[in-house]
Amino acid sequence: MRFTRSGVALLAALSTLTACTASDEPPIGNSVVGGERAGAAGIGDPDFPKDGNGGYDVAHYDLDVTYTPKGKRLDGVATIRAAATQDLSSFNLDLTGLHVRGVTVDDAAATFSRQGSELTVRPAKAIGASSSFTVKVTYSGRPRPANDSANLGTYGFIPTPDGAFVASEPNGSKTWFPSNDHPADKATFNFTITVPAGVTALANGEMTAKPATKGGLTTYRWSERHPMATYLATATLGKFDLREGKTAAGILNLAATDPRFKRSLDHLYTASGEITDYWTTVFGPYPFSSTGGVVDDYSAGYALENQTKPLYGGFEPDESIIAHELAHQWFGNSLTIKRWKDLWLNEGFATYAEWLWSEHKGTKTADATFNELHARPASDPMWSYPPGRAKPDDLFNQSVYTRGGMTLHALRKTIGDPTFFTLLKTWTAEHRYGNVTTEQFIDLAERLSGKDLGPLFDAWLFQPGRPA
Ligand SMILES: [Zn+2]
Repeated sequence: MRFTRSGVALLAALSTLTACTASDEPPIGNSVVGGERAGAAGIGDPDFPKDGNGGYDVAHYDLDVTYTPKGKRLDGVATIRAAATQDLSSFNLDLTGLHVRGVTVDDAAATFSRQGSELTVRPAKAIGASSSFTVKVTYSGRPRPANDSANLGTYGFIPTPDGAFVASEPNGSKTWFPSNDHPADKATFNFTITVPAGVTALANGEMTAKPATKGGLTTYRWSERHPMATYLATATLGKFDLREGKTAAGILNLAATDPRFKRSLDHLYTASGEITDYWTTVFGPYPFSSTGGVVDDYSAGYALENQTKPLYGGFEPDESIIAHELAHQWFGNSLTIKRWKDLWLNEGFATYAEWLWSEHKGTKTADATFNELHARPASDPMWSYPPGRAKPDDLFNQSVYTRGGMTLHALRKTIGDPTFFTLLKTWTAEHRYGNVTTEQFIDLAERLSGKDLGPLFDAWLFQPGRPA
């Protein structure tokens, strides 16, 4: 994710107006009620205690949604294949708003109840630990996006005049499909999206069939065959011009722009291809089967790195932000944080990628960028927010980005270019498609460099004040 400049100003204004309250609630543990085993209502992230759920691990989402922009109505069937990690008499999914019409577990009708964003499902027969099960939720209604002025602003499923803009970091997937809505549980996705003829549906991964039109409705089928966090799932809908092909290195490339941004189409396509190919030489093999980007005319004030299809909200993306969102395909999407507090592993790396791109283009070295930032006065707010512990009520603080990127440059200067760039490739190779923590990154950096890097990481990531 990256804000545009106007987005930053807007959020700064909003956050001074809004009193932010961090939740003090402890993580919700497994509850045993009357000898029954209920899955927890949260996955165990203390900063976001109700996000995700416990007791199972999703392997695959099959989302079949029909959406009509005119009535803003969504009809969905979500078929979710999961494995129980404990005995389950009941378990939760995350879903906000919308009307649940029915739930089955392994084709048998299940009872369900709702409270806030928790959908509690009680299967007819308890599920045994480590068995696989399939839960199918039929639902409909008018999706409403999430609003959180302390973080992204408006996110999730955002209806637009010609369709929808769908960007869900950190926890907005629950606004359009029932899920285990936390990055610690990644899964593969199939999308079947039906829209009025003339509307294009853009989801993650690749199209698996030609769009089929019948009775004035067109159905699109997409598949993301690599594990994906729920917040990276998209079904962005609207009128789009498309350019498709392959990068010079042979990776499928799809660029899409709203008619208002058609002048950006060729640049988006060309820059996305060139940058993706360059990142494969710096970060290691591309983790997915296609690249590209989407520019919609919704003025989000930010871009999000939706897997395989970064989404730019209402502006013409320059190379710097394209470099940022495509770096996330490695840092954030292939390697996904297990807890939101480690967000610098996404944003610090994607910010550093912007500096590496400038260095590659001969515009400015990363060292020059680092030195300029380091010269900022001691009173700069960046120095009082240690980026290694992102705060739940201020997740996307500028420090997580800028000081996170500076941490990597300080590391590079300490361990030298050969070890630093080996570290980046080893990091992406060892944890491809997995979940990661800051501790794992520090351990790997120490292992490859043979140095005690504790003091460096502590000063840069965890202590307030400007590191020397
Ligand atoms: Zn980002």
